[in-house]
Amino acid sequence: MLAAKNSPSGEEGALAAEVASVLKGLGFALKQDCLGNIIASRGQGDPLILCAHLDTVESTEGLGIKIEGDYIKSSGNTILGADDKAGIAIILATLETLDCQPPLELLFTVQEEKGMVGSKALEPGDLKAKWGLVLDAGEPVGAVINQAPGEANLEIIIYGRGAHAAANFQDGIDALRLAAAFIHQLPPPALSEGATFNLGIIQGGVATNTICPQVRLLGEIRSFEDARRPVLASQLEGLLQSALAGSGGSYGFHCRDSYSSYLVAADHPLIQFLKRTAAPLHIEVDVHARFAGSDANILNNLGVTVVNLGIGVEGNHSFEERVSVSAMEKMSAWLQAILKDWYYGRH
Ligand SMILES: [Zn+2]
Repeated sequence: MLAAKNSPSGEEGALAAEVASVLKGLGFALKQDCLGNIIASRGQGDPLILCAHLDTVESTEGLGIKIEGDYIKSSGNTILGADDKAGIAIILATLETLDCQPPLELLFTVQEEKGMVGSKALEPGDLKAKWGLVLDAGEPVGAVINQAPGEANLEIIIYGRGAHAAANFQDGIDALRLAAAFIHQLPPPALSEGATFNLGIIQGGVATNTICPQVRLLGEIRSFEDARRPVLASQLEGLLQSALAGSGGSYGFHCRDSYSSYLVAADHPLIQFLKRTAAPLHIEVDVHARFAGSDANILNNLGVTVVNLGIGVEGNHSFEERVSVSAMEKMSAWLQAILKDWYYGRH
């Protein structure tokens, strides 16, 4: 039972061991790298890669499962962890009932929720596949995510000068007020067409009787166009400069790209292949962009053409997370059709 194995990012070992033992039983050759990513392969010829992540965004320790009609839910004390155990379950269940052996690579990654730490550790030579599917989008079955933005991490440090808050406050430079002046000028989250921005963490201060000497702000910029992020970052830096002008304060501004965007053209043969295999099952394929990163970003950056598929999980990253049995069955039926088509060589 995958749901019973707690696997927050960095603690995927027990779940990985269970997945590995199922894969061995199915005749896969297994490799596990030092981070814990599992790469499994089976069959001869040009493989298709299937990918899902082992970690959950937070702990599911003490998870109680509740069945409500067609839905599997958490009893409410933790997330369900269907992101992405539903993806893993669909892959394993499909393989267990598949009556042919198409050439396959399976990739089960660790620490996806920490910014795709696991898949980022892969080298181009680690994978043979040219095409692949990530089963990890919190969208209805049939959703094909063919585009996602890249992301840059921002670290902004505003330096003031500490002083006693009452005895000699005039000697201080209040980094908190400087941060407030900067934050007051911030642009809206939708920075420009196809780009978003967020400062999600603010840290600073040492004591209530000390003028705040330093504030650290952490954030992110995402954009479909990779070249946009440095441009947007320098606009933010310009705002910071003007907020600090004449204050005596200074700053450090660091923008580091975390991963690149991807775009698989809507008429790419991989997408045509998906549409062709979905049609007999009356699954409506909805090809669209999604404003979130996944292992699909990293795999595309490694040169594998990969889309992220909706697996029917709803309410990801919340205690209300749920997935319907019928959605998982539908996805599994589609995956069966995909793998049979791959095996019989009609791709
Ligand atoms: Zn996920």
